[in-house]
Amino acid sequence: MDRKKGDHLLLGAHMSIEGGLYKAIERGTEIGCTAIQIFTTSNRQWGAKKLIEEEIIKFKESQEKHSMLVVTHCSYLINTASPTNAVRHRSKTALREEILRCNALSIPFAVLHPGSRLDGSESESLTWIAEALDEALEASDKTTMILLETMAGQGTTLGNTFEQLATIRSLTEYKKLVGICADTCHLFASGFDFTTHSGYEEMWKKFDKIIGINHLKAIHINDSKKECGEKVDRHEDIGEGKIGKDAFKYLMNDERFLNVPKILETPKLTLQDDIRNMQTLKNLISKN
Ligand SMILES: [Zn+2]
Ligand SMILES: [Zn+2]
Repeated sequence: MDRKKGDHLLLGAHMSIEGGLYKAIERGTEIGCTAIQIFTTSNRQWGAKKLIEEEIIKFKESQEKHSMLVVTHCSYLINTASPTNAVRHRSKTALREEILRCNALSIPFAVLHPGSRLDGSESESLTWIAEALDEALEASDKTTMILLETMAGQGTTLGNTFEQLATIRSLTEYKKLVGICADTCHLFASGFDFTTHSGYEEMWKKFDKIIGINHLKAIHINDSKKECGEKVDRHEDIGEGKIGKDAFKYLMNDERFLNVPKILETPKLTLQDDIRNMQTLKNLISKN
């Protein structure tokens, strides 16, 4: 492989869909993103508007024209691990609909928070998550992967250990369509200290052993306002938080992740904030 680091960087940020789904791609293109993340619908409301044909066509055209890799983030309301039947069922429906929207829009990856077990048992909840993934993927055209996100471990959320994520994958029928999205802020908050090179290598070695490194399909690249192991999820600008620049330098230069989209979810008021964080990351790429 003669592809050099930084040559075909898949880097970008979460973009607003205000004014239409395709607008997110235009916004991303404007500030130099080669990959973006969007919500295909409101992330804090149940039920989605039906996509209209014109919107689908516009979105797909824009995606192709700008060769933009698009990832969606599923609604925060979805909790397929909930011990409450009604919530679980509503969540399953919402997940299935999200994957069908991704199919229609030719979006290859949908990032999902595994869920919270609340007062339920961990093993039962992990089984329910796998069941929901299978139902959604069964109904889909098999062109969209669901990416389970690594979580910070707040409260009873699941997915803050590699073991839990591996268990969910192992319980699904459609393993080929279930990957992982690693969030650097969440990994740090959950207790992985990858601020040193040895800590960085150790974390991925563990990931590879328990899940398999080839299942990592996207990275949420965020610094953390909180300390390692605090289990509190607060994103910070790259290099301005407790993770610091060294760790991002290891990540940006890691040949294993050259083709893995890296998406910012750092605090932002305007697109200038994304531009600044992307530049910080680009500056960390070694030139040789
Ligand atoms: Zn997330
Ligand atoms: Zn977060």
